[in-house]
Amino acid sequence: MDPLILVNFENPCPDVIPGGMVCADTALAGVLTVAREGIWLDARCAAALADMLEAARDEGVDGWILSSGYRDHDYQRRLYERKLEQDPHYADDPYAHPVAVMPPYVSEHATGLAVDLTIQGYESLEEDFAATVQGIWLLRHCAAYGFILRYPADKESVTGVVYEPWHFRYVGSPEVAGYIMENGLCLEEYLAQLPE
Ligand SMILES: [Zn+2]
Repeated sequence: MDPLILVNFENPCPDVIPGGMVCADTALAGVLTVAREGIWLDARCAAALADMLEAARDEGVDGWILSSGYRDHDYQRRLYERKLEQDPHYADDPYAHPVAVMPPYVSEHATGLAVDLTIQGYESLEEDFAATVQGIWLLRHCAAYGFILRYPADKESVTGVVYEPWHFRYVGSPEVAGYIMENGLCLEEYLAQLPE
């Protein structure tokens, strides 16, 4: 997977299982706990995540829980269908009514490059995670490890996705991540700026 791959409502994820993944249970055992066993991540993403959370721990910021990493399309479909049962029009117009659960092929969790990070008490992914010590630390330091806040609060009409202060996306380098975060962009906007 290209670490700059764009997956959204207009750009579905390819129907392949990404290569080069590692299991978080073992690869990240020292720096976080897993919400459930068998969460896989792109190895580059996992290595950067380990570096980031080690640095956090050195500053006394720990207690991390990995809620989600790689999710295949079938798993995503089940999540989405559960939403549709509650609201058949759930994702009819995501740019006007941004979603929290994406249809299959629209979730970048299928790339192995995205992580949902939480702490105890926020496992069900609450927005006020942003105000926790860990949430604040992540926002400030993620770019140094190649991660971006993928769904910022002020970009819901661009991403079609609600503000998700727990969802971080590995983009391959601190340079790219730093540029995106410092300029207040979302990934869609950054990629649109690149020359063809
Ligand atoms: Zn997520």
